Amino acid sequence: MKRYDFGKRSGFKVPRATIGAMRLPKDDDEAVALIRHAIDAGMNYLDTSRGYGDSEIKVGKALKDGYREKVILSTKWAPWITKIEESDDASADCTRKRIEESMKRLDVDYLDYYQVWNIVNRETYDQAVAKGGMVDGIHKAIDEGSVGHTGFTTHDSVENLLTYIPEVDWAEIILFTYNLLNRTYAPAIQAAHQRGIGTIVMNPVGGGALAEQSSVLKKLADDAAARSVPDLALRYVLANHNVNTMLVGITRQTDVDDAVAATQETPFSPQTVAKIEGFLDGMTKENVGFCTLCKYCMPCPQEIDIPAIMSCIYDYRYWDLKKTARERYNKHMKGPKADACTQCGECEEKCTQNLEIAKEMAFAKEHLAEETAES
Ligand code: SF4
Ligand code: SF4
Repeated sequence: MKRYDFGKRSGFKVPRATIGAMRLPKDDDEAVALIRHAIDAGMNYLDTSRGYGDSEIKVGKALKDGYREKVILSTKWAPWITKIEESDDASADCTRKRIEESMKRLDVDYLDYYQVWNIVNRETYDQAVAKGGMVDGIHKAIDEGSVGHTGFTTHDSVENLLTYIPEVDWAEIILFTYNLLNRTYAPAIQAAHQRGIGTIVMNPVGGGALAEQSSVLKKLADDAAARSVPDLALRYVLANHNVNTMLVGITRQTDVDDAVAATQETPFSPQTVAKIEGFLDGMTKENVGFCTLCKYCMPCPQEIDIPAIMSCIYDYRYWDLKKTARERYNKHMKGPKADACTQCGECEEKCTQNLEIAKEMAFAKEHLAEETAES
């Protein structure tokens, strides 16, 4: 794969598809073989984390036999995501301790990148950059020669990101979420790219949602002359030239091979991108007249999280993402579900979209709940 500048701050060159080591195979030998397959295919940037289970250990095993020298190795941590010890905090000293620990787990004496993991709001950003905070700890490791570079990953709001991207002269890279179904971060990615920060995208296939069989997405892929929905998803991200590289979450060899193939396909023309985006714009919740997640209907006397259920219904009904919708409804939603609805109608009086919420709760109970969901 051809390599391009990884932003303007680091001097590295990377291909447009690189390694996300979050969901490696359980078996160590399989994981080692898969990581090496990705590196052999030309993916020279590898992203892991202290918080990805035993990923660092597996990556460490894969990087033996001369593979360490072939990759730009990056790991990350933050106390607000994972506390390894109860006393963990965002101090420079604690960060130094976690850097040492990651190096031991990876069995390396040098990390190309150590990143602040998942800045989620202004408060966590301030903690990271405070005097004596995480960034100071990473800079100390850089001065001592055990770390080369730094950056951060984020799920903060675009609004916040646009306020602090201009001031993050310490960050050489930023990792964002971006894909066909979630284009929210496009302005922040553009702002970072314009400042020479290397931009990385995670979840190019929507954490697996875009790999699901969906008649709506299949038609969109056919119209764009893509080989499949995942191919459409990967090439849509590649069409954004503000993105330096996308992390391919590798779980099997075809993840690597499909991503390499997508980078070698003819890039989508501006007309194809405009057509895809025209379709996506038409499918926004506002445009289809569905729940906009404004939360004006809350609270529900039965403590049902109405917007969360409406969001599952939206994926099910408008995108034909039935499996994804059911998984979110059954596995990831907390609190009472649609079966607790008494059809009292209180929420409907407050709904800004005049939706028949009680009927939608009955729909969710019938189509999304595990015990009733059709296969
Ligand atoms: S109709 Fe159902 S969802 Fe709406 S407020 Fe009443 S119990 Fe809650
Ligand atoms: S008020 Fe209506 S549009 Fe807003 S979150 Fe509730 S159901 Fe959705």
